[in-house]
Amino acid sequence: MKELEDRIRRDGEVKSTEILKVGSFLNHQIDVSLFNDMGAEWARLFASKHINKILTIEASGIAIAAIAAQHFGNIPVVYAKKNQSRTLDNSQYETQVYSFTKQKYYKVIVSTRYLTADDHVLLIDDFLANGNAMHGLIDLCKQAGARVEGIGVAIEKYFEPGGRKLRSEGWDLQSLACVKSMNPQTGDVIFEENPTA
Ligand code: 5GP
Repeated sequence: MKELEDRIRRDGEVKSTEILKVGSFLNHQIDVSLFNDMGAEWARLFASKHINKILTIEASGIAIAAIAAQHFGNIPVVYAKKNQSRTLDNSQYETQVYSFTKQKYYKVIVSTRYLTADDHVLLIDDFLANGNAMHGLIDLCKQAGARVEGIGVAIEKYFEPGGRKLRSEGWDLQSLACVKSMNPQTGDVIFEENPTA
């Protein structure tokens, strides 16, 4: 998606060859107009799918998913929670996810009330690196008997193995910007226009 690529080139901060900061428009300050266009693009890419729920993960996925849902007929958005809340009962699906940014395992949970075998789910997240967050969401859907119809990622880091793994597993993965490489010296970001493998 050209608009997102242009924005990353303009406002993204290349912290290292592996870490891209996009806090000024995506995961700290939010550009609502950009998110709206991202939602419209996923709706176009997944137009052939019957999707009745979006599942994402706390925290950065929530705003992206909530705005995207408006392009899928205002379907419900569920987010996997990272902390056990005292208001949740024991009826929950849970899985372990290895955090790319914190480099440790954490538990995520979804109430059995909000993810069921009737659900046809689109998974959404801000970044895809090793694919651990996405595999956690897929696992929660499997536990619920929900069907994963597709995976939408804002920024895929193509030089990390997550996208390749998910595509080889047969998932319909649509990344709106796919970063092939980054140069922290120059700040240059190179995109892959045809992510297939
Ligand atoms: P994965 O689970 O695919 O290894 O990593 C995805 C998760 O790690 C995303 O939910 C995202 O929050 C975080 N992440 C991975 N790479 C980056 C990055 O370059 N920048 C930022 N801001 N977050 C990232």
